[in-house]
Amino acid sequence: MTDPAPEPAPDELICSSKCCTQAARHRVEWNNPKLHTPDRRKTWLACDDHEPTLREFLDRRGFYRETLPL
Ligand SMILES: [Zn+2]
Repeated sequence: MTDPAPEPAPDELICSSKCCTQAARHRVEWNNPKLHTPDRRKTWLACDDHEPTLREFLDRRGFYRETLPL
């Protein structure tokens, strides 16, 4: 409802981490309370290697919400 962009098929999704070209396996959901309403979710896509890195990055800033499987 809040995201009008259609989701591409899972096999076309690539990790959001810089310079990474691996297929994404996880959706890292986050929210910046200074910019977003509490129910808003931003999504980063992550491969198996980068999910912990992205999660830690967000968690340190208090932005991390949850990781969902793709
Ligand atoms: Zn990656």
